[in-house]
Amino acid sequence: MINLILFGPPGSGKGTQAAKLVEKYNLVHISTGDMFRAEIKNGTPLGLKAQEYMNQGQLVPDEVTIGMFRNRLDSHPEAEGFIFDGFPRTIPQAEALDGLLAEKDMDITCLIALTVDDDEIVARLLGRALKEGRADDADETVIRNRIGEYNQKTAQVYHYYDMQDKSYSVDGIGEVDEIFSRICFVIEG
Ligand code: AMP
Repeated sequence: MINLILFGPPGSGKGTQAAKLVEKYNLVHISTGDMFRAEIKNGTPLGLKAQEYMNQGQLVPDEVTIGMFRNRLDSHPEAEGFIFDGFPRTIPQAEALDGLLAEKDMDITCLIALTVDDDEIVARLLGRALKEGRADDADETVIRNRIGEYNQKTAQVYHYYDMQDKSYSVDGIGEVDEIFSRICFVIEG
């Protein structure tokens, strides 16, 4: 069973690579960002709450995020493995994830971080805003806040799994297929 954390700043290509990994390794994809966007689209109370934070480029509070994540994890008892995309983003989320997996006799196989520099991220997200129309991609101030949240709260998660000898960095610049080969190389050891 492969349980992979796909890690990296916004715009590092996690979503694109996750879709390819799901197909190749038959994994269930859990993206907390996609889940929040679905809640917002459906106008749920959870969506309304999350939107306040997302519009500012801030992280949604841990208790909201972890609760939503737990429900999704529990709804896939048949899964052969998971890819966690955009979760965990804080140390409490990482601790919660390890605890939830341990209850199911599972654990994280590895964390793969896609590395991309800040200027490239801003350029990519502004480009994505034109194509996909995500409000949080269209405003450079919001993008810079998201990068700030990543550096302040999320980057430590790499270190957390590094202490378990599970963290790997992969160059996130290049052709999609080239980056995908680099990721598969890490997974297959
Ligand atoms: P993403 O699509 O992963 O870039 O997430 C978009 C936004 O959703 C983020 O900027 C956060 O506001 C929120 N979000 C997604 N995942 C999390 C998480 N694990 N913890 C807190 N906020 C999150």
